[in-house]
Amino acid sequence: MAQRSSGIRGARVGSGPLGEPERGDLAPRTRVSFWCGKGHHSQLSFAIEAEIPHSWDCPKCGLPAGRDRDDAPVAEGHAPYMTHMGYVRQRRSQEEGEILLNEALARLRGTI
Ligand SMILES: [Zn+2]
Repeated sequence: MAQRSSGIRGARVGSGPLGEPERGDLAPRTRVSFWCGKGHHSQLSFAIEAEIPHSWDCPKCGLPAGRDRDDAPVAEGHAPYMTHMGYVRQRRSQEEGEILLNEALARLRGTI
């Protein structure tokens, strides 16, 4: 006589909810604003229980950003971002710059 398989075989054991049903609700979050030294504003979302960092790297320029808009952290060892003109000024004195500028202008005007 063939043995009948048990009626409960294959039943999903443990498929019931463990504790409260999880509906995928996110943990409560808070949005925190950071400002970097260049004035970029970024807003990050943190879990409420998470410890909010005092500074965060600016996603736009990489400089450290702080939570106080008027007191952005200054990156140590980072020179403030310099414009191309800033680098030129660093390499050359004002007089040299004027000579070069005059030469360039003269060339443009076709007087050289
Ligand atoms: Zn920035």
